[in-house]
Amino acid sequence: MSTLRISRTHFPVTALGPGTRLGVWAQGCPLACRGCMSQDTWNPSGGTEVEVADLVALWTELDADGLTVSGGEPLQQPEALREFLLAVRETSPGKDVLLYTGYEESELDETQLAAAALADVLVTGRYDVTSPTSLIWRGSANQRMVLRTDLGRRRYEQFVDHEPEHPPMQTRSDADGVWLIGVPRRGALTALERRLRALGLRPEDVSWRP
Ligand code: SF4
Repeated sequence: MSTLRISRTHFPVTALGPGTRLGVWAQGCPLACRGCMSQDTWNPSGGTEVEVADLVALWTELDADGLTVSGGEPLQQPEALREFLLAVRETSPGKDVLLYTGYEESELDETQLAAAALADVLVTGRYDVTSPTSLIWRGSANQRMVLRTDLGRRRYEQFVDHEPEHPPMQTRSDADGVWLIGVPRRGALTALERRLRALGLRPEDVSWRP
């Protein structure tokens, strides 16, 4: 099997997709959306290169309800991603795959389409800071949730037009820092920084600024 360059994995993820999920954040994104909250994932040489077989082993061991792949831009590494998703589908029927991409489907080449075809649900399109949305699991109004399989339709149909009062968000921390999981509404990160400063905390190296 090949290797996939990732920013990190998270478990349990409960704020991006239904149920308790494994999150895999790919490393490397050339799209440079203004206002991206994950600029730490842009550098294609950053993060860690992991064996796809190790990711499959992690997925199997955790027995999550579903898999969320985001980034970074997962479809910058379409061959390794395809291998990973193929193994996930083969080992875990009934568990859904939610794949985020900054590309529109019409922009994908054959290899990228082959990887994307293994997701039950795609969220597509650049993050557009000028186009806010309250739709769950989407960062801007132009982003589309595409239900590709019966499982995807069964599990996500109720969420396509769902606008929660507050977007689901999680925080996790480890030796490297504090991680936000979810899609915050516009202005939420600035407000968070303001609140932290009011508490006497000085966040540095935040991922939503260069
Ligand atoms: S929002 Fe997504 S597609 Fe856009 S720059 Fe950030 S990681 Fe890349």
